Amino acid sequence: MNCRIRTFETNHLSTISKPMAFKSLTISFLCYLCFSRAVLALRVIGPAQGSFAKKQIIKDATALADARLSAMEYALNHASEACWRAHMENAFGRYANLNGIRTVIQQFRNGRYRMEEPESKGLGMGHYDTAQDVVEFGHSFFTSGVEIRAGAVMHEASHAIARTVDHFTPQGQPVPQGQTPPPGSVLGYVDSKLDVLKANPLFGPTIHLNADSYRLLAHTLATSLSAPLVRRGLEGET
Ligand SMILES: [Zn+2]
Repeated sequence: MNCRIRTFETNHLSTISKPMAFKSLTISFLCYLCFSRAVLALRVIGPAQGSFAKKQIIKDATALADARLSAMEYALNHASEACWRAHMENAFGRYANLNGIRTVIQQFRNGRYRMEEPESKGLGMGHYDTAQDVVEFGHSFFTSGVEIRAGAVMHEASHAIARTVDHFTPQGQPVPQGQTPPPGSVLGYVDSKLDVLKANPLFGPTIHLNADSYRLLAHTLATSLSAPLVRRGLEGET
């Protein structure tokens, strides 16, 4: 897409005046910036049904999750290691594959997740339905604060977009969502066995696929003392 814009402009440079060419290039550059920003955002497709209020809650939570993602991306790629190392190890452990984490975050930022209904009856916080490829949110989601909702979006959207998982086999292999975890599998939720995953180097090559670690990293980076540094860097960059 960007190449095509550039080719179009180059062809016109030979037939139009310099001021016009400059104006035209400026417009193209602004379009490019808008287009780039539009692409680099986590978006939700749907839900088609439901109340405006609930749809807006989902959009707002997705927008906050996207802001958290851009801060994570900036921190891990551009900020000094002192800003992010402790947070990264808190969420993934010291044996984690850092480039794997960066790749998942990058996939996320270009990602879309689908919803059909705004609120799924009988569901607690959230769920990713692998058969339908849709994310669902339940009663707890809509009665929680905005930070919790953004974390839930982060967790469920990571399943949909980056194929993250909740369970790991005792041998350290990720169990794809929708499959029954074999006996002895470890659940990577923050309030379950994340500490077990983090402490064992066996899980180092795969823990970057643990969904809840992204929820945790996003939260601690956003609320830490270094958050203003990351935010300023992010604003300076764009
Ligand atoms: Zn999950």
